[in-house]
Amino acid sequence: MSSAEETKPKDFIREIIEEDIKNNTYGGRVHTRFPPEPNGYLHIGHAKSILLNFGLAEEYNGLFNLRFDDTNPSKEEVEYVESIKRDIQWLGVDWDDREYYASDYFEQLYEYAVQLIKTGKAYVDDLSADEIREYRGTLTKPGRNSPYRDRAIEENLSLFKRMRKGEFPDGSRVLRAKIDMTSPNIIMRDPVMYRIQHQKHHRTGDKWCIYPMYDFAHGQCDSIERITHSICTLEFENNRSLYNWFLENLGIFHPKQIEFARLNLSYTILSKRKLIELVNGGFVSGWDDPRMPTISGLRRRGFTPQAIRAFNQAIGVAKNENLVDVALLEHYIRKDLNKITPRRMVVLNPLKVVITNYPEDKYEMLEAINNPEDPSMGVREVPFSRELYIEKDDFMENPTKKYFRLAPGKEVRLRYGYIIKYQDHIKNDDGEIVEIQCTYDPLTKGGYAPDGRKVRGTIHWVSANHAINAEIRLYDRLFTKENPMDLKEGEDYLDYLNPESLLTLKDSKLEPSLSKSKVEDRYQFERLGYFIVDPDSSNENLVFNRTITLRDTWAKIKRKK
Ligand code: ATP
Ligand code: MG
Repeated sequence: MSSAEETKPKDFIREIIEEDIKNNTYGGRVHTRFPPEPNGYLHIGHAKSILLNFGLAEEYNGLFNLRFDDTNPSKEEVEYVESIKRDIQWLGVDWDDREYYASDYFEQLYEYAVQLIKTGKAYVDDLSADEIREYRGTLTKPGRNSPYRDRAIEENLSLFKRMRKGEFPDGSRVLRAKIDMTSPNIIMRDPVMYRIQHQKHHRTGDKWCIYPMYDFAHGQCDSIERITHSICTLEFENNRSLYNWFLENLGIFHPKQIEFARLNLSYTILSKRKLIELVNGGFVSGWDDPRMPTISGLRRRGFTPQAIRAFNQAIGVAKNENLVDVALLEHYIRKDLNKITPRRMVVLNPLKVVITNYPEDKYEMLEAINNPEDPSMGVREVPFSRELYIEKDDFMENPTKKYFRLAPGKEVRLRYGYIIKYQDHIKNDDGEIVEIQCTYDPLTKGGYAPDGRKVRGTIHWVSANHAINAEIRLYDRLFTKENPMDLKEGEDYLDYLNPESLLTLKDSKLEPSLSKSKVEDRYQFERLGYFIVDPDSSNENLVFNRTITLRDTWAKIKRKK
């Protein structure tokens, strides 16, 4: 830990927890949880919540539960449960054997509902969904009582039992809490607790045809698990009164709910509902498309858990919403990858260079450093021969003033190779440059001129005959608008999809040492960025994703400030 981190003031959540420990509020216990609804894949916003809850448990010697709030059978799938577990594990978070499901508590929740009916705090309502909405009123207009609100307790008990038995069709009746139809907090206007839904649940099968609403389940599940601090995002602030009402009227263990600001990231959408639309609409290749802000997408893109954790540490927690610059996340991934990735030479858009004074049947092996940041990563050898590839944009027929790469009359240094000098270039019938001819200076092995002459440009290259082919996928931001959620009337977030977010290159040329690359191997391709082998890759067709370019835009922003 650096001294800057040690002196960092405690955030408001840690202050509350330390106060509770001091006052022995929960017998000094700290017990947190992450409560996803298994209706989509996790995104980087969820990572903030996971790392926060897990981190608190670790810091205060407490426990951390993973609990699936699986109260909605129509939107939930086992696939999501599995992906969520995989992603949390990948982040380095461990819930031991504390993997729970709201559906494990369906019987207990039913009993709680019966208890509230018995104390006159809940009733069966025969109004339709539309009527309930109509009766609820608005922010400016109080609600009205349902004509069924004053049903006798016995009648409510009997109807609720029959709801459970499956005697009524979907939507015909609900169980509601009897609170206050005129409350300024609309959530408190007799919220629905149970709905009839004749639908198979991914865990309880056909056992139930009534399901608790999320708002009736969430707080009670925390209570059952004896969670001390129920940490959630700000949009649940209004729900707190309701959760408290249930807990108090049931007289059961009462966790403390604390709200914090969710993560919002520029040029990114963090809403499961919208991410589902991107997947189902075919705007991306799937939940783990490397352009997605999902954990699985970021992983496939080449992000590391270490970088995500460092980013999370940096943003901290606060009480007010803001938009975090995605460049900050990218800064942390660069920082991590810079340390851990071996360097390699790869030419994305090849242009042939013929070294006219190098023998045709000869090649030699040149030493190249694997990571200048970490000498322990050693060196490797790269072949050099008469025919090479360089990047198309490393040659300019009519160079601009500050162009220090290859051009007529100019010399350039080949990284870990020789200094070469322009001789001629050849165009095809379309006027496209297809070949450059150069001479090399044999005295400049390793790139240094013994006579001390200045050569400013250094470019990467590969030997044409030794190079291997690969498919390279370059990514850009998925959205062109800084805050794609901040829309004017009539606009749609899809209007701001970046049509150039994926660029696939099919004839890139790689140094031969890359032929043994396995899925998820990471590299820095010199001058081009950080790359990772994609799961689509095979021995016949290597596929690399660019994680991120090298230029740290965050460092630049910081310098300007
Ligand atoms: P979304 O808003 O993307 O649809 P959600 O809140 O519906 O997500 P849940 O599965 O209910 O998804 O979320 C589980 C937990 O993750 C909740 O406690 C929620 O507050 C938290 N969470 C969701 N999005 C964010 C975010 N952007 N930043 C921090 N925490 C988040
Ligand atoms: Mg939610």
